[in-house]
Amino acid sequence: MIQADLHIHTIYSADSLIQPKTLIDMLSAHSYIKVAAITDHDSVRGCRATVELAKAYPDILIIPGVEISTTQGDMIVLGTYELPPKPWTPQAVADFAKTIGGVSIVAHPYRLYGMHDYARNVKVDAIEVLNGGSTKEANQEAKMLAKSMGLPGTAGSDAHQVSELLSVFTQIDADLNVDSVLSAIRRGAVSAKATLL
Ligand SMILES: [Zn+2]
Repeated sequence: MIQADLHIHTIYSADSLIQPKTLIDMLSAHSYIKVAAITDHDSVRGCRATVELAKAYPDILIIPGVEISTTQGDMIVLGTYELPPKPWTPQAVADFAKTIGGVSIVAHPYRLYGMHDYARNVKVDAIEVLNGGSTKEANQEAKMLAKSMGLPGTAGSDAHQVSELLSVFTQIDADLNVDSVLSAIRRGAVSAKATLL
């Protein structure tokens, strides 16, 4: 069982202050969250650098990803070092994820820049049911959406500053490598949890 924060912004997002090295240090020091996904806004520039930095730490894993501003709201793609081709319609982005062997996740559906009920029309792999920046109500609504669509629910802090990192996590029945994590998300071997303080 591994614990992962699946939604993190680094300085490669215009609105984030988090340095990749700071994230690595926090994962290294954390007692159980050892996995994190880099999901900058419409950019994959932080992925390779962060994955490289993590190589010095055998007990932590960085998953390369991106948060795409689709035409209907935000969608996370995990398992990519590249941007999907435009136009960024939700289904085209989800299809891109599938083609490359990645995972598509509707981010914070019931918030600003969320897809809201439009998400029901998109064939995605999962719904983000616990977002560290969303209200309890918005997360609850996302959970209901995932349930009614029969999709797995993931958790991510959506951190833009260091104090927001690792506030929530996804418990995943997987080994400590990217392919194992992605396939566990696809088959729903995940549960969303808030960090115990
Ligand atoms: Zn985000």
